[in-house]
Amino acid sequence: MTGNIHSIQSLGAVDGPGVRYVVFMQGCPLRCIYCHNPDTWLTEGGTPTDVDELVRKALRFRPYWKNGGGVTVTGGEPLLQAEFVEEFFARLHEHGVHTALDTSGVGNLSKAEKVLAHTDLVLCDLKFLTKANYLKNCRADFDQIERFLQLTAMKNVPLWIRHVVVPGLTDGMDHLRRVKAKAESYPNFEKLEFLPFHKLCMEKYERLGLEFPLKDTPAMNPDALKTMVAQL
Ligand code: SF4
Repeated sequence: MTGNIHSIQSLGAVDGPGVRYVVFMQGCPLRCIYCHNPDTWLTEGGTPTDVDELVRKALRFRPYWKNGGGVTVTGGEPLLQAEFVEEFFARLHEHGVHTALDTSGVGNLSKAEKVLAHTDLVLCDLKFLTKANYLKNCRADFDQIERFLQLTAMKNVPLWIRHVVVPGLTDGMDHLRRVKAKAESYPNFEKLEFLPFHKLCMEKYERLGLEFPLKDTPAMNPDALKTMVAQL
């Protein structure tokens, strides 16, 4: 089986526990206004990669996977290539490797369920808290994402929620408190990560000839965010 891969980060440290082999899948149906990977959006343009070859490549980094490390598949949107991710994770499980799925939560639920059967951890970006905001800022259906999150709970897959904090859009103590309450409402919830909005992606947008919708929005100060989170 072949998957279309955008890129690989061999020694990732931010997408799940421990040191991780991070696979970025090509293609995403969403268009989040703060997306820092617009180069993953199109379904064409990645590198077709055989699942056996990818397992072999990943396993070379096994010596680094102490303290809960392993493999994370992200994107783009990995559930757009659910069959490939299912197969990849199943093979990794045969080798006893910890698997994490970093997703926005959109996609076909029955395919997602098959992926979850081989997933040890779901990292889900809860981007907004209302249907209107999801539609306006991501072109996504919040109901679909809610259904995916409920499925992770039904399947009892540990869940980390991540939320990008954008000044003037998703900041403010009240909003952060609501995100925390929402995250904690899932029975399989384990951890919440607030990520400061940054603009390191500006160059990518320029290269692609795209306008970055938040070009005039200031970056979120990481220390200010830490202070806010400490008060939650
Ligand atoms: S889901 Fe992720 S990759 Fe897709 S547009 Fe949103 S931030 Fe970008």
